[in-house]
Amino acid sequence: MKSPGNPSDPKPDHRELGRALGIYATDPLVGSGLPLWLPAGSVIRTELEQLARDIARGDGCVGVHTPVLGKRALFEKSGHWAKFADDMFPAMALGDEATADQLVLRPANCPHHAMVYASRAHSYRELPIRLNELAPMFRAERSGVVTGLTRVRQISLDDTHVFCRPDQVGDEVASALRSALHAQDVLGMPVDYVRLSLRDDGPGYLGDPALWAEATSALRQAAATVGLRERGLPLVEAPGEAAFYGPKLDLQVRGGAEETIATVQIDFVQPERFDLRYDGADGESHLVVMIHRGTVGSMERVTAALLERYDGRMPLWLNPVQLRVLPVSDKADPVARDFTDSLIARGLRAELDPEGSLGARIRRSRERRDYAFAVIGAAEIRDGSVQVTDPFTGWRGALPRERAVAILTEAYAERSAPAWPPCAE
Ligand SMILES: [Zn+2]
Repeated sequence: MKSPGNPSDPKPDHRELGRALGIYATDPLVGSGLPLWLPAGSVIRTELEQLARDIARGDGCVGVHTPVLGKRALFEKSGHWAKFADDMFPAMALGDEATADQLVLRPANCPHHAMVYASRAHSYRELPIRLNELAPMFRAERSGVVTGLTRVRQISLDDTHVFCRPDQVGDEVASALRSALHAQDVLGMPVDYVRLSLRDDGPGYLGDPALWAEATSALRQAAATVGLRERGLPLVEAPGEAAFYGPKLDLQVRGGAEETIATVQIDFVQPERFDLRYDGADGESHLVVMIHRGTVGSMERVTAALLERYDGRMPLWLNPVQLRVLPVSDKADPVARDFTDSLIARGLRAELDPEGSLGARIRRSRERRDYAFAVIGAAEIRDGSVQVTDPFTGWRGALPRERAVAILTEAYAERSAPAWPPCAE
């Protein structure tokens, strides 16, 4: 692994970083495309899941948990079986051959969420209903194409489905787009442009073209409401990139291979196929509109992208070790231990490293891509201070230990960089 920050270094590779930093492992016995999240990776993933949950709750989403398996008939009804059977794991027959249920690992979470909506009747007054789940879904990728965290067989997606009236579509789409952009801001991941993914003349698109046109204009309207132009984000139309059930807005990054990191999709097809309805103000029953929104993205993909963007040194709130505490001598050990405990008591991830020469421990901390490290020697014991080095922002200085705890606690709570005092050293 290269030392961080050297501009002549080649672009970091998340697979190399993932191995060196203990983020994830793979094992042929488990199978390719099935990464094992190690403790450091699990910290990152838990933080990402919390961000996804916070944003979803802030937008009025409620949580659900649904199974990763479903009957083949469920996906036949949704249209996934016809479109994606080749990318799905083979169906499992359960029970007597004649009466067996064919169960499949889900290729998408939408049908399960549709069934949650369908589990009771709804009035127009209670819409929109927004269901959020950090949900695993599956792709039967061939062994030859799976790689690292970017092409995997189990994808853990921050997935929300909104069920709303037609007059609510505009607001819902705008809110979803705003939150997707906000999530990427918090992650520090620049978005290159927003793609309006449309149908072309090809076969395979389901639903009434008039509804497609309506949905497309709602998406255009939302892009204008959110102020993409003011953010310097172009809106690029892409015929042939729509989902089979409707048009969508995709947040795109151009990196090595261009990819979609978040998405908002309007869907008139699933409500029709599953007969998802609400009782209207007019006393009639109406089909609901479904909106698919992916805000933070898939845990695997976003972790890979973050590792590469930050060369493994994650921002404070994501970093597995937020502060490494280094006592200079045996005499400083108890003070360093107390300081570490006070950080842990505030919910911070701090670790004490008392073994070896100070130079070697500092090197090790930098190599491990800890967020920051703190040195405590004789002078620091005397005046209750600590020497902090924050390689992420380049800040270095001494400050009272309590102040350091307060600054780190506040930055962690806000998912921001620590506000170190201006007069360092
Ligand atoms: Zn969906």
